[in-house]
Amino acid sequence: MAGAGQSVVSSSKALPMNGGHGLYSYANNSTYQKKVIVAVKDLITEAIAEKLDTSFLSSSNTICITEMGCSVGPNTFVAVQNIVEAVLHKYQNLVHDHSRLPKFLVFLNDHALNDFNTLFTSLPPDRNYYVAGVPGSFHGRLFPADSLHIVHTSYALQWLSQVPEEVEDVSSPAWNKGRVYYSSAGDQTVKAYEDQFAKDLDCFLHARAQEVVCGGLIMILVPGRLDTTPHDRVFSNISYDILGSCLMDMAKMGITSEEKPRKNRVSPPGEESRHYSTESKSHIISHQSWFGVPFEGALWK
Ligand code: SAH
Repeated sequence: MAGAGQSVVSSSKALPMNGGHGLYSYANNSTYQKKVIVAVKDLITEAIAEKLDTSFLSSSNTICITEMGCSVGPNTFVAVQNIVEAVLHKYQNLVHDHSRLPKFLVFLNDHALNDFNTLFTSLPPDRNYYVAGVPGSFHGRLFPADSLHIVHTSYALQWLSQVPEEVEDVSSPAWNKGRVYYSSAGDQTVKAYEDQFAKDLDCFLHARAQEVVCGGLIMILVPGRLDTTPHDRVFSNISYDILGSCLMDMAKMGITSEEKPRKNRVSPPGEESRHYSTESKSHIISHQSWFGVPFEGALWK
């Protein structure tokens, strides 16, 4: 069903996280992302209490949730549990007959090359929801129309569908020679990344606008940057620059090619994202918040 004939990122372009449970696996190197999910628990509970329209449950007792860009866990299970608890909390106040509380069907989505085996073998045994995997890019359609009640995505939407073409084009003013990221690059390169992010976000929202039922909820967590902090002073950007210079040194030593490292696909983390308010989005974005999660000691377990 993935894509259902719509445009999707082909698996050759997809760059999934390291699978398994090894030293360099995503599962063992994503403590910061977990902190983000924990930090927004109250915001999620509040959003569900205030914004999720419960009237759709009169026709069905099943709430369909999708967690997009779930990777291999375990953070994704924390996010899903928070959502399920928040919905149950809302219904416990509304429904007196507890046998009528909703059931949950959770669709875990990521690129087809994601390590779904690790994900499925580490599902929490005591979970109170049903699970299905949905492979494919969230930049395209993944579900039938009006089939989802809640969409949640954390730390995934900043991944671009592709490196902006101009960044790799030697004849373009946006060509990003000798760097893997835009943080200390010129304005044209930054703009190329911003434009790609805007296009990708449009595709994501356009697809979800069709898939989510009226009264449903889309919750998006993405890293950001204050307008007052320049690109090259953001911690994650500084680390990409350091990584980039190491890779360029390796290219000079012939260990890798100069073209390979330039393919960084993360979008500009910035308050810019709030300015991307095209017509389709203005109908569905009703609330935006900013919060800080310190990096210290959070990168690795
Ligand atoms: N949400 C998890 C994982 C974040 S890592 C957490 O908070 O820990 C980002 C994940 O998004 C990766 O697994 C990556 O493969 C996935 N991803 C990036 N672009 C995607 C796309 N277009 N479609 C589906 N998944 C995508």
